[in-house]
Amino acid sequence: MGEKGRMSRRGLLQASLLGSVLAGCSTAPVGSSFDAGPPLVPIRARTDRIFDIAVCLRPFRPAGPRVDTERLGDTLVVHNYGHGGSGWSLSWGSSARAVRMAMQASPSEVAVIGCGALGLTSAILAQRAGARVTIYAREQLPQTTSARATGEWTPDSRIALAHAAGPDFAAVWEEMARTAFKTHRDYLGLPGTPVEWIDQYAVSYESPPSVSSAPPASNAPPAMDFAAYRNRINDLTPKWRRLPADTTPFKGASVSRSEIMIFNIADYGHTLLNDFFIAGGQFRRAEFHAPWQIAALGKKVVINCTGYGARALWKDETLTPVRGQIARLIPQSDVRYGLVYRQVLAVPRRDGIVVQSFEGGEMKGYGDANETPERAEAEQAVMTLAELFSPARLA
Ligand SMILES: Cc1cc2nc3c(=O)[nH]c(=O)nc-3n(C[C@H](O)[C@H](O)[C@H](O)COP(=O)(O)OP(=O)(O)OC[C@H]3O[C@@H](n4cnc5c(N)ncnc54)[C@H](O)[C@@H]3O)c2cc1C
Repeated sequence: MGEKGRMSRRGLLQASLLGSVLAGCSTAPVGSSFDAGPPLVPIRARTDRIFDIAVCLRPFRPAGPRVDTERLGDTLVVHNYGHGGSGWSLSWGSSARAVRMAMQASPSEVAVIGCGALGLTSAILAQRAGARVTIYAREQLPQTTSARATGEWTPDSRIALAHAAGPDFAAVWEEMARTAFKTHRDYLGLPGTPVEWIDQYAVSYESPPSVSSAPPASNAPPAMDFAAYRNRINDLTPKWRRLPADTTPFKGASVSRSEIMIFNIADYGHTLLNDFFIAGGQFRRAEFHAPWQIAALGKKVVINCTGYGARALWKDETLTPVRGQIARLIPQSDVRYGLVYRQVLAVPRRDGIVVQSFEGGEMKGYGDANETPERAEAEQAVMTLAELFSPARLA
């Protein structure tokens, strides 16, 4: 693994695909029994506890998100879309760039198209910069793609293809990630817990692959060169550490632990919408079919945060759908840790324990625009977790 001493979700995906989440990870063992952490309450991983299965399309652009300007007659359009699997994580940083471009025109009023993570953060930052803001969108946050995300700090998940991103993009990405990270911190410790830190465990029973072993057979399409920038911000988040075997409840397993920032999407979204309305923001339901309809709003400045919708609206055919599905189990207030086990991720959000299969890695769902939920996939992921909590596996 390229990132010494760290294992991002991308790293976990890659390591898992090789047969072991711990393979090649230079984790340092923890030093004392204090590091073992609190006792873990088992996740009640039963398929009859699934109360929601949601699918959404990540708006992936090989060149990275589009944050630039365009003139439509008298209207300055600032684009802010195409964030792949990183839209929540990068939202504040990307929107800060977009709002800087918007405010160069000194508008007293700004229109934002879109009410997902990017639209709301753009709107709030434009308010903070002194503008009156109206959001125009087909859907409000609870109906958007953003509301169906996993909710983890994953700032370089499916953000660009290395060969297609411009030479300056890595530095731009880093600035966005650092700005976003700082701003998410302002939402820690608030009522409703919109943002919080959790422990995340990676559990594996598989032995690391031997050098001579053949790669696992797979029906997945060939991997693409997704850009990996995480090592530019290694200083922001803790390292993964291997735990001594007798300090974990998982009998005979290799277990590593790190800490990760998560977004409790229901409450985070609610907090952002409240902040926007309290600051005088207006929402108008509207659907646009062509850019001229946006110019016809007669606004001096418009920020375009339409996510995957920009493919049809702006004819941006570089936008590629990457289908993703999450299931939610009924929340357990005493389960406050995340898990990675056999290519299944569990995230203990306050609005439901998110369970997601990442079999197939970054290519999973690539180019697939089908938004129909697959119950069988959700059940399989939950049954995989159940295996981990079976008496045979627990110490
Ligand atoms: C399964 C899954 C898990 C994910 N997990 C994470 C994660 O853990 N962390 C992370 O950072 N990111 C994650 N993502 C990615 C993240 O969800 C997206 O990057 C993000 O939601 C994009 O936000 P957006 O505001 O650009 O788009 P959207 O949320 O899609 O919002 C677009 C807005 O524009 C409006 N709109 C679109 N077209 C039009 C039109 N023609 N007229 C009017 N309005 C229009 C829509 O109604 C909506 O209000 C995940 C994605 C998926 C699919």
